[in-house]
Amino acid sequence: MAYKIIEDCINCDACLPECPNGAIYKGGDEWRFSDGTDLKGMIEVQSVSVDADAPQSAKADDYYYIVSEKCTECVGFFDEPRCVSVCPVDCCISDPDFVETPEVLLAKQQTMHLNA
Ligand code: SF4
Ligand code: SF4
Repeated sequence: MAYKIIEDCINCDACLPECPNGAIYKGGDEWRFSDGTDLKGMIEVQSVSVDADAPQSAKADDYYYIVSEKCTECVGFFDEPRCVSVCPVDCCISDPDFVETPEVLLAKQQTMHLNA
């Protein structure tokens, strides 16, 4: 399953540069599929066409947030989720509302990183 950040976040910025998928954003910032990935132009996400370069609305305003669609639990890059490892207040937790198998997570990682 993807990870999410809960409201205990102290906005320290430690996690953002660690995410290999560019899936972590500062509260209030817009996000893009193309940030930190090889995605560009029109892509298919859950049978819907999306412009990878188009800015998307922030998923949280007051603290950092994770884009579930881009989070792979670090599968394909690291053995453990990097955000969990570096967060000083343990506020990166698995999201029971976004469950994915290891196979799906790896396929997601390979789709985002064509040259990985
Ligand atoms: S688990 Fe890995 S891929 Fe997901 S948000 Fe954390 S650092 Fe990024
Ligand atoms: S490392 Fe933890 S406390 Fe710091 S910005 Fe990320 S989620 Fe928030």
